[in-house]
Amino acid sequence: MIVQKFGGTSVKSIARIRNVAGIISRAAKSDPVVAVVSAMGDTTDYLMKLAQQTAQSPNRRELDALLATGEQISAALLAMVLNESGSKAISLTGAQLGITTESIHNVARIVDINTDRIRRCLAGGLIVVAAGFQGVTEEGETTTLGRGGSDTTAVALAAALNASACDIYTDVSGVYTADPNIVPSARLLNEIAYIEMLEMARVGAQVLHPRAVELARKHRIPVRVRNTFDPAHEGTILKGVDDMEIYRPVSGVTIDRDQARLAILKVPDRPGIAGEIFGALARHGVSVDMIIQAFHEDRSVNDITFTVKRSDLATARKALEEAASETGAESVLADEDVAKLSVVGAGLMDQPDIAARMFSALGRAGINIKMISTSEIRISCAISDNEAERAVKVVHDLFQLDQQQPS
Ligand code: ADP
Ligand code: ASP
Ligand code: MG
Repeated sequence: MIVQKFGGTSVKSIARIRNVAGIISRAAKSDPVVAVVSAMGDTTDYLMKLAQQTAQSPNRRELDALLATGEQISAALLAMVLNESGSKAISLTGAQLGITTESIHNVARIVDINTDRIRRCLAGGLIVVAAGFQGVTEEGETTTLGRGGSDTTAVALAAALNASACDIYTDVSGVYTADPNIVPSARLLNEIAYIEMLEMARVGAQVLHPRAVELARKHRIPVRVRNTFDPAHEGTILKGVDDMEIYRPVSGVTIDRDQARLAILKVPDRPGIAGEIFGALARHGVSVDMIIQAFHEDRSVNDITFTVKRSDLATARKALEEAASETGAESVLADEDVAKLSVVGAGLMDQPDIAARMFSALGRAGINIKMISTSEIRISCAISDNEAERAVKVVHDLFQLDQQQPS
């Protein structure tokens, strides 16, 4: 059996749902199909806005109850189209699909899938149309999986059902060396390693949800990203790094524009102080990314600077101001004008000059680097958000990512 997932732009209108139904019914001629759908177009954004207009800080349980309806609408409409066009189909919500999640609202992880009902439907010759992005807790509460989470529904179903293929249909032809909507010369990659895709997804390549890539990697699911509007195109396949045909020091460049920077200045230099500060942030549910601790001349105080999601800035600032008064730090600074630019490549660690070349190219372009962090397969720089798109192009050009790399 195969799993096919269709994103929001692919099911934006009834005409587009008909197009998707065509792709599904062609596949269903040879294989049982589970089709996972996102909400139509910008429905999830619209529902979020409605909630924000209704309540100052919407109750998280009710927010999930609201958001989950988006995917239920598109699933039901798609099943209607399929049924009318001669295929037999049934739409199922997260609960009906047997998807159990943790008891955390808005960003729940899938813990188990009871596939009995799906298998019965498939055995009865039905196409299963699954509402993505949702599940249900053991207590029967509706949950959602975090923005972009329908990808995760698809890969989790593919793993649970032991599917032979998991095709993620979207509005571009696959995974590119950079977001093709920012860099027109970005090149389509025929293949990408799970670890590279995971890192790219975590640092802003929206094309796949990071949790979906984690699951694909764990279960070795041959996920393929392809274009709903050009379904004959092979797209990009995810593979183990050892199965890659081409060796690339840099596979892609990404930008994450949901970033901000905070600094706590002149913190007393004593053991346990970082634990106190970051403990305060963790208690407020704020995740911290790049961290720099710099010492002062008199050595008795440090400055600590770090990045957070821009949407967490207000909460983080409040927590940090409390920590500053408790620890005797001098003051707190906030900077909203931050984007995180990253290059990712499984072969990066073998080429020590990549970081230096990236920093020099940004310097030549007059783009200031605010912070730097690295992992084995990634180099990231915090830069001004105003420079975000230009910086992606500069780095893409530098590594000639528009050209086929030598193997
Ligand atoms: P869907 O609604 O189908 O889930 P998304 O909007 O979540 O689609 O993801 C597709 C978008 O991801 C593309 O339109 C593109 O702008 C963006 N994107 C960012 N980085 C990349 C990349 N490296 N390759 C392809 N697409 C990317
Ligand atoms: N509809 C949800 C969102 O917009 C989930 C998804 O599309 O993957 O985030
Ligand atoms: Mg998406």
